[in-house]
Amino acid sequence: MYRVTKELRFCYGHRLIDYSGPCVHPHGHNARVVVELTREALDRADMVYDFADLKQVLQSWIDSHLDHRMLLRHDDPLVAIFKELGEPVYVMERNPTAEAIAEEIFRYAQDQGLPVTAVQLWETETASATYRLEAEGKENRYAVTKRHSGALRAVDGGIAPKKNGRTS
Ligand SMILES: [Zn+2]
Repeated sequence: MYRVTKELRFCYGHRLIDYSGPCVHPHGHNARVVVELTREALDRADMVYDFADLKQVLQSWIDSHLDHRMLLRHDDPLVAIFKELGEPVYVMERNPTAEAIAEEIFRYAQDQGLPVTAVQLWETETASATYRLEAEGKENRYAVTKRHSGALRAVDGGIAPKKNGRTS
């Protein structure tokens, strides 16, 4: 099995609703995304996937859909307000958590035919969420990590829904 990863960066704003905590207020993050591709055999150029092509496919979608945009859940009253102001919004079916954004990028990569097996989104320097493709027959999973005293540990996990509706 061969695995490659590519790191991409973007900035986004968001807020969470139906939730209590500081993230109910609009704020922003400098995100670092680590995309993992896996193949059992290499292609004719002895690669899993050309890094340049990978960057081209994913960075251009991220730049035009997520970068310097406000990510909001579809029923958030801010959606109408931002649209009226002509501000760039990316509307999501679910709360724009790191987990949901990682899955959004994963789904796009999969739709483009990339052999993607995981997308990890670092929302801050110490906290990330991963959406990972599990072995055939098993449900896909979310996992989050937080760094404490320099060590990474998994703090939560869950089964992903089978289908994610992208609304924008
Ligand atoms: Zn946040």
